[in-house]
Amino acid sequence: MVRLDTDVVKDIFLELGADLCGIAPAQRFGEAPEGFRPTDIFGDCRSVIVFAKRLPAGPLFAASCIPYTRLNDLLMTRLDDVGYAASLELERLGAKAVAVPADDPSEYWEADRHYARGVLSLRHAGYLAGLGVLGRNTLLKSERFGNMIQLGAALVDVELEADPVASGEACPSDCSICLDACPQGALDGNTVDQKLCRPLSNYTSPRGYKLYKCWECRKACPDALGTR
Ligand code: SF4
Ligand code: SF4
Repeated sequence: MVRLDTDVVKDIFLELGADLCGIAPAQRFGEAPEGFRPTDIFGDCRSVIVFAKRLPAGPLFAASCIPYTRLNDLLMTRLDDVGYAASLELERLGAKAVAVPADDPSEYWEADRHYARGVLSLRHAGYLAGLGVLGRNTLLKSERFGNMIQLGAALVDVELEADPVASGEACPSDCSICLDACPQGALDGNTVDQKLCRPLSNYTSPRGYKLYKCWECRKACPDALGTR
């Protein structure tokens, strides 16, 4: 098996435009559902590299959903670009890398619950790679950028130095601001009811555009913007 320096690997992602990068060993994913663990996706996976790009906060405060929708979509493309270019660079260094899409497509779908599951849960991967903690709004909360991040990942057949999982409570015990802010009552503190959330977070306009018409759970959190 090829050996790579962990700092060199992280620098590849950071120089390609990632704002955060962390590493989790594949064996940390034992509690993920069967079929959705890194080694289910790529049998030779030894380490999961999780990276994040920052989402500008301005669109949270816009009256129109168009800026948020467009920036979020753009960010997903940029994350996939980072995963693509980093995979080629890792391959040049002798490793095999499988980039995980930042967003769609996904295969798993429960029609009755309108429930989709990505091939790898990026927010759990981000937690396991030390990028942050999971809030009751189900978003990953990083210290620097709060929840204003989106995530990508690459599975590699190389053992890298792991980052510690972030410690500490994600949310004050008595906080339910995000749950109360959800206009659909879709949050229960552990998960989001996708059937309730989708009509707003995955709204289809009469012309067929997919629009994010709600981000209240992200915006309402007092830690939304992090320390920057
Ligand atoms: S995006 Fe909106 S509808 Fe969906 S969980 Fe968040 S606040 Fe609720
Ligand atoms: S609003 Fe409160 S409960 Fe919700 S994620 Fe933020 S700190 Fe946690």
